[in-house]
Amino acid sequence: MSDRGNDDLGDLLRQVRVAASPFRTRLNALYEDYLPVREGRVADYIPELARADPDAFGIAVVDIKSREVFEVGSCSDLFTIQSVSKAFIHGLALEDYGRDHVLTRVGVEPTGDAFNSMIKLEGQSHRPHNPMVNAGAIATAALIKGEDSPAKLKRVLEMFSRYIGREPTIDASVYTSEKTTGHRNRAIAHLLLNFGMLPPNLDEILDLYFQQCSIMVTAKDLAVMAATLANGGVNPLSGERALAAEYVQDVLSVMFSCGMYDFSGEWLYRVGLPAKSGVGGGLTAVAPGRLGIGVFSPPLDEKGNSVRGVAVCEALSQDLGLHVFSSPETWSTPG
Ligand code: GLU
Repeated sequence: MSDRGNDDLGDLLRQVRVAASPFRTRLNALYEDYLPVREGRVADYIPELARADPDAFGIAVVDIKSREVFEVGSCSDLFTIQSVSKAFIHGLALEDYGRDHVLTRVGVEPTGDAFNSMIKLEGQSHRPHNPMVNAGAIATAALIKGEDSPAKLKRVLEMFSRYIGREPTIDASVYTSEKTTGHRNRAIAHLLLNFGMLPPNLDEILDLYFQQCSIMVTAKDLAVMAATLANGGVNPLSGERALAAEYVQDVLSVMFSCGMYDFSGEWLYRVGLPAKSGVGGGLTAVAPGRLGIGVFSPPLDEKGNSVRGVAVCEALSQDLGLHVFSSPETWSTPG
């Protein structure tokens, strides 16, 4: 048999095994359990997000050792990444400038405030508290290197393509809408400029921020991105490095303490995984050394996190013993 034939047979056997696995049955059950949930509201600050289907629901898990992908529901639906992008852009800024310089522009301290809070900058330094709140994410976007705006965007898209294994695209109508209505983010940028924390090219910086938020991903993409961070920065499906190994710990630490808006402390307590959510209904959660989880479900709770996304991650964390402080005796693997 040719090599291709062996590969095909291997793929087929893997698919049969995945299809029959108890973990897949469990994932299907989780999907059925949480699909009827009616809590939460789809983000409506721009009309494009308000049109999201509240019943769209996908759960994807990527196991880094077996490289198996488990999917149930709407795992190929495209939606805008929104704030999930912030964690990954933080990684790119670290690669561009190193930890010491990035720390002069943005801190690593949770705020306990809403993501778009305007008033809080750190006392002496005037740094935004962390790269996950809008102020910090805008300061981080300003650090992305490139000779002009298209070059910076190109680098951002190339970075995401390494994480997801395909060329990402931008939802032009979400981007235009964010740009047209983003007065609060513009005000935050002006405040940062006032304190000398941003250079004066605010339009260019905000454009990149609105573009990064408008990148389209699927639940499967979010699982592969999480699995890449779980795997030391190397995409486990493609073998391509997406983030320098030395910065994986920094990115995960900030996701751990600040990734779930002003629910981050309770999330840590209940789920215990570095994670990031976005108002498009996406959630990415990382079990270091083990697996990545991606969930898509647009209805959000009052903090801005996907209601079904939080519930599914809590259940998976308990089932598989994923909480970073869990005892090894409770650990199990999907399969
Ligand atoms: N583009 C959104 C904003 O800056 C991102 C919000 C989010 O996902 O938290 O307001």
